[in-house]
Parts: sequence; structure tokens; C-alpha cells
Amino acid sequence: MVHLYDCIIIGGGPAGLSAAIYASRSRMDTLLIERAKYGGQATTTDELENYPGSIENCTGTSLSQRMKKQAEDFGTIFVKDEITEVDLDSKIKVLKGKDSEYRAKTIIIATGANPRLSGFKNEKELRGRGISYCATCDADFFTDLDIAVVGGGDSAITEAIYLTKFAEHVTVIHRRDELRAVKSLQEKAFANKKISFIWNSTVEEAVGDEILEGLIIKNKLTGEKSRLDVNGCFVFVGYTPISELFENKVSMDKGYIVTDEDMKTSTPGVFAAGDIRKKSLRQVITAAADGAIAATTAEKYISENEF
Ligand code: NAP
Repeated sequence: MVHLYDCIIIGGGPAGLSAAIYASRSRMDTLLIERAKYGGQATTTDELENYPGSIENCTGTSLSQRMKKQAEDFGTIFVKDEITEVDLDSKIKVLKGKDSEYRAKTIIIATGANPRLSGFKNEKELRGRGISYCATCDADFFTDLDIAVVGGGDSAITEAIYLTKFAEHVTVIHRRDELRAVKSLQEKAFANKKISFIWNSTVEEAVGDEILEGLIIKNKLTGEKSRLDVNGCFVFVGYTPISELFENKVSMDKGYIVTDEDMKTSTPGVFAAGDIRKKSLRQVITAAADGAIAATTAEKYISENEF
């Protein structure tokens, strides 16, 4: 018989890890299933300068590793598997993975989001050959080279600043004439001599046979096209939720799972936490807070129901 867990958490980013700490600390029999890397998107960030208490040497990876150790110490079981099918209708929830089947009284969905593609020609073809979506993973390849960053939000500007530690020059290409990023990041970027900006412009095409050699850029106001010679292009134009598995199983809005403030979804016994949720602020701290609340609500749900 397949073991029955009190709580299964799907996803090992900050939301899932925080849920694991709270669930196992309250002595729930807890399993966390992750298909790839623990830490999720947080591991793609070099510096978590706005996470309270992280004054120096706090990378997304180091924080995630500490969170995982904390959950392990409280008793969370960690499994690497990819869930391909879920049955959430019955009181006992069943998850089918590529390697195994799992059963639980409660499920916490913390599957997060993936980087969105910008949509220019050859973006997919040259991915991994000069086009990247993760600065901490790939910055080193571009030491002393010219690179571009696409986007104007917090991610684009945080990573553009980080990339100046490696690259000769970073050109930020943004589709409007003002950045979406928080003002303090804007100030840092504008003061950085290695960063320049191309405003009101989008990338039309990536040029290069085997590896990226340049970008064709279109000015949205004039329609004028120009070529920017770069060896690297980092795309940070937002994220898309990883929620396909839960379509028609829980209420969603544009792919994001709708919860109440206790992280309850529309399906009893199923909770959601982190970037997968419909919410206004997607940060490590809000993901961790969601995880804590989801685990606490899951525990209450078990105590109020008979299994
Ligand atoms: P975001 O805030 O949605 O910004 C996406 C940026 O990409 C915007 O500037 C947008 O332009 C641009 N864009 C969107 N689609 C595009 C396209 N197809 N082609 C060209 N440009 C496009 O996404 P994000 O920066 O990844 O941030 C996501 C969330 O994580 C936010 O809540 C953010 O605050 C948070 N975050 C926080 C930090 C931090 O606090 N240190 C770091 C990273 C992320 P427009 O401005 O014209 O819409």
C-alpha cells in the first residue's frame, strides 16, 4: 500500500521549503517533491538584498540550502520526481509521478513560475548559445564581452547590475522610456558606467549561425531598425505560472491559482503558496510567508476532518 502522508508539497522553491519547515515542525508527516533544483527561481539571483536580515553574502542558493537543511532537520522527506497527473477530488489526494505514486491528506502546490520568452526570431534557436534566462548560471561565460539585457522590471535591472561584474558592457533594451523596476535599483543602474540603455525598443531578431553574434532592434516610435553586436543576451520579461497540471482542478485566473488569505484553493485539502498564486507581490519573502500559512492551514484542515 502506498504510504499516506499528512502533507505533500509540490515544488522546492522558497514557498515549498518554508511550507516544509512549518509542516514538519508541527509534526505532520511531510513529503516535498521537486523535479529539478531546490530553491527554484531564487537560485537564479546572486544577491537577495531585500530579504530581511540578508545583509551580506546571502545568495538565493545559500538561503535555499539553509531552508532545505532546516526542513530536513524537522523531518521533511525530500524526493526528486516529476508529477504528471493529480487526482484531487477525493479526500485522499493521489499524485502520479514519473517514478512513483504518492498519497496525502493535504497538498500544497508551490510549483512557481518559469521565465517568459520575449518572442523574437531565433530566440529559441539560440537559447544556450548566447541567449540566457539566468545571470547567476551563465554570467561567467561572458567575461569581458558585450551583452544585452531585455526588459525593464526588477529582474532585468537587478541582473544587469550583477552582469557588469563580468561583462565589458551591458546594454539594457526596454520597450518603454521608463523602467518598471523599483527606484533604488534604477538609481544604481543609472549610476553604473558599464550600463547603457536603448529606450522604446524591442528585439526583432537574434543573429548568428551557431552562436549569438548580434540583435536586430526596432525602435517602436520611429520604426527604425538597427543592429547591436553582442555576444550575450539575457532575457528578463516576466514569468509564466507552472500550473497546467491543475487546470480544471482548482480555480485559476490567467494560469495563477486563486486562494483565500489562508492559502486555501477552491478544492478542500488543497493549498497553494508562492509565485503560483494570484497575488500582487512575488518575492522570496512573500513566498516564504505563503508557505508558512499554507502549512498551518493544512494542519488545521487535518485536525478538523476525519481520515
Ligand atoms: P515584471 O515586473 O513583469 O517586468 C517585466 C519587464 O519586461 C517589464 O519591464 C516589461 O515591460 C518587459 N516586457 C514584458 N514582456 C516583454 C516582451 N515581450 N518584450 C520586451 N519586454 C517585455 O517581471 P520581473 O522583473 O521578472 O519581476 C517579476 C516579479 O518578481 C515582480 O513582482 C518583481 O517585483 C519581483 N522581483 C523582485 C526583485 C527584487 O525585489 N530584488 C527581483 C526580481 C524580481 P513594461 O514595463 O513595458 O511592462
